[in-house]
Amino acid sequence: MARNGKKSLYDEAMETFHRAAEFIKMQPRVRMEIEEPDFEHVFHITAEIRDRLVPLSEEEQARFRDLPPSDVKAGDALELLANGSFILHRRALLEADLTMRQGVINIPNVGLLKLEKGGPRKFRAYRIQHNNVRGPYKGGIRYHKEASLDLFKVLAADMTWKTAIAEVPFGGAKGGIKFDPFQYSKEEIEQISLRYFYKMKTLVGPYVDIPAPDVGTNGEIMAYFMRQYTDGEREKHHLRGVVTGKDVRIGGSEGRVKATGQGVVYCIEEWARDKGFDLKGARVLVQGFGNVGSNAAEILAALGAKVVAVNDVHGTVAKDSGLDMAALVHHVHQNPSNLRRTVAGFPGGTAIAKDDFWDIDADILVPAALGEEITGPVAEKLKVKLVAEGANGPTTREGDAVMAARGIDVIPDIICNAGGVTVSYYEWLQNLRLEHWTEGEVNRRLEQAIKKNYAIIRDISRNRPQRTPIYDSRPFCVGQPVDIRTASMILALKRIEAHYLLEGFSQ
Ligand code: NAD
Repeated sequence: MARNGKKSLYDEAMETFHRAAEFIKMQPRVRMEIEEPDFEHVFHITAEIRDRLVPLSEEEQARFRDLPPSDVKAGDALELLANGSFILHRRALLEADLTMRQGVINIPNVGLLKLEKGGPRKFRAYRIQHNNVRGPYKGGIRYHKEASLDLFKVLAADMTWKTAIAEVPFGGAKGGIKFDPFQYSKEEIEQISLRYFYKMKTLVGPYVDIPAPDVGTNGEIMAYFMRQYTDGEREKHHLRGVVTGKDVRIGGSEGRVKATGQGVVYCIEEWARDKGFDLKGARVLVQGFGNVGSNAAEILAALGAKVVAVNDVHGTVAKDSGLDMAALVHHVHQNPSNLRRTVAGFPGGTAIAKDDFWDIDADILVPAALGEEITGPVAEKLKVKLVAEGANGPTTREGDAVMAARGIDVIPDIICNAGGVTVSYYEWLQNLRLEHWTEGEVNRRLEQAIKKNYAIIRDISRNRPQRTPIYDSRPFCVGQPVDIRTASMILALKRIEAHYLLEGFSQ
């Protein structure tokens, strides 16, 4: 329970766990064992931050209008950050012709900038290891300004459920650093990441705990982690599996970058097959256009669906006949001047307000941003048939209740976005065996794993125990229909509980 008697995010998130535990009459000690994380590592890291040139405020500018322009020869040595500041690289001063007054310089075509001193900074870092009864801890690393212990506990527990649902031999973990990576340079992010992983070195390992990318991190950061962990080790090539989500050229798996989005689409395909719904021409809304959102959107568009609007943290773009996905991906991810990696400013669509995004008439909504976006009032507005949860925890309890009452189908996050961790498992296997699989092989396995486990969850939800040539849902059904979120949790808990019941407790 959090302060002020208010429920913590973790307590709230665990309500589905407790509901499912009741349905399966989970053995009390097992329930107690799983309901809290094994370890909560909270620590601090420090890093040196460079001096910055920060744009002057309107009022301050008046005092420096007469400042002669400075000529910084090495223009590229001023590194522009997403918040409009610049990192002052020392090489910028080589051959520079500078006039500085009270720390302010005037750079033509840029404006008046004030020098802000860098120096050491302290960051709060986390790694929550929730449960490892089924295998090594596994879960992403998030860099975000609103990271917290409570949130990482929720996300770590989600990984415990997700790895069980995906049937990969891992447990659950999550972690990261509380900071806004968009305010820092590439070099600073490397330093912060290296220091974080230096401190993590005793906590992780290919058979202990295996991080992966999440919000604010990517394959590049996984490469820093791998180097930090394996540097100087005699058998370093055997340790590549310490992180997943790496670039394919250094031990990553084909298909991993797209895997979460691809898994979302496999779930949507299975939902459509079951409902007799044609995805060709289907109207889709996507929230978040990072790794998960952009890949899910591109794959859906390739299947003939129309992505009619995309919302992200900085804006929303819409086009009734469908946005051109290749052009939007280029605008967001391949345009070096789009430092905030946002859909805002995309010329191939109309800018609309976020409030109006939820109102658009469509068939499918893919939330692929952060948590708690689909609240009760948002769910009241939605005009879709399906919400396929690419993000972790995008729907509040109230949002869930409203969608159930309004007959909107939901594919819960713990199955919908399990494609990432499934292909992470394939990457880990390839690393341990020093193998390299084709994308076709990866996707064939992924499709089978996701569709099979989603079908079991649907059977649990409808109380339709059956054995098919592909799966057997009989051991998981509980004798009555349950909502789909509880059904997912039932599948996870039955698989986790089996380990405690069959292996017993180590003393
Ligand atoms: P990302 O950092 O690549 O992208 C995040 C996107 O969300 C960006 O487009 C950002 O602008 C948008 N966003 C952030 N705050 C927003 C807000 N308030 N309103 C609207 N949009 C907002 O992250 P990602 O890796 O694509 O992860 C997205 C979600 O999917 C997260 O919830 C993450 O935990 C989950 N997830 C990711 C993976 C993976 O493999 N990357 C796997 C499973 C689940």
